[in-house]
Amino acid sequence: MTNPLPYLLAQRKPDQVGTVIRVGSVSIGGQQPTIIAGPCAVESKEQILAAAHAVKRSGANLLRGGAYKPRTSPYDFQGLGELGLKLLSDAREATGLPVVTEILSEQDINLIAEYADMLQVGARNMQNFSLLKKLGQIDKPILLKRGPNASVKEWLLAAEYILHQGNPNVVLCERGIRTANGAGRNTLDLAAILEAKQLCHLPVIADPSHSTGKSEWVMPMSCAAMALGADGLIIEVHPDPANAKSDNDQQLDFSEFDSLMGKLYLKPLSTAGFAGGWGMD
Ligand code: PEP
Ligand code: MN
Repeated sequence: MTNPLPYLLAQRKPDQVGTVIRVGSVSIGGQQPTIIAGPCAVESKEQILAAAHAVKRSGANLLRGGAYKPRTSPYDFQGLGELGLKLLSDAREATGLPVVTEILSEQDINLIAEYADMLQVGARNMQNFSLLKKLGQIDKPILLKRGPNASVKEWLLAAEYILHQGNPNVVLCERGIRTANGAGRNTLDLAAILEAKQLCHLPVIADPSHSTGKSEWVMPMSCAAMALGADGLIIEVHPDPANAKSDNDQQLDFSEFDSLMGKLYLKPLSTAGFAGGWGMD
């Protein structure tokens, strides 16, 4: 018999509550939104430690930072590689924040899994099926970003690849898609957050940094995503955004992040259905 469900494992059954994914001591998809924050790229020991302490002070739950960077130009900063992973794990030790970092290539899985608490599949790799299959065979949680040209169905099927191989710990991230609207770097597809949460039981978070490309749009987009029921946010925060080695225009400085966190707390608007959102102060 053929399978009538396109997403046999990812699909939300009627009245099914959302799945909670654990990353170290942190939950994603539970009763509280989860905030992931940190620089676009790990650049130095001082930079990642300063960022880790600052985002923790402001209430972030997980630390982000790229050690292997997918850059459009081969002449741009490519990340510190294994040194970046070591610095991330030092920052975890210093702050207690679990760390999430991007994996670009299958060959790095074991190395990255040794250091990181969660592995991120970036937008450019969302349909790298051989990478997805391999990530389905490890026991680390995976943060799966939506490809800039992917439909929600294609995104959920990418998650299904990981689940199908036996790893149930997948968190989805809407990070903006390519549209005719040239105003931002990408367009944060708010309806896709609703659609993904309706169709699928996995947590869905939003990335207001890569979807807008503008630091001043990060706060309003964060509020919008949380109001409609996103399970959390991933936000780029850097000690000195103007001099960052990547994504200067979209990274928040520490005080901008702190005031964003002040706005986000957050009472449930409704607990009914698949998408109870959170209200602002
Ligand atoms: C990132 O989060 O560092 C990143 C490169 O994001 P994306 O894959 O969404 O472009
Ligand atoms: Mn970035």
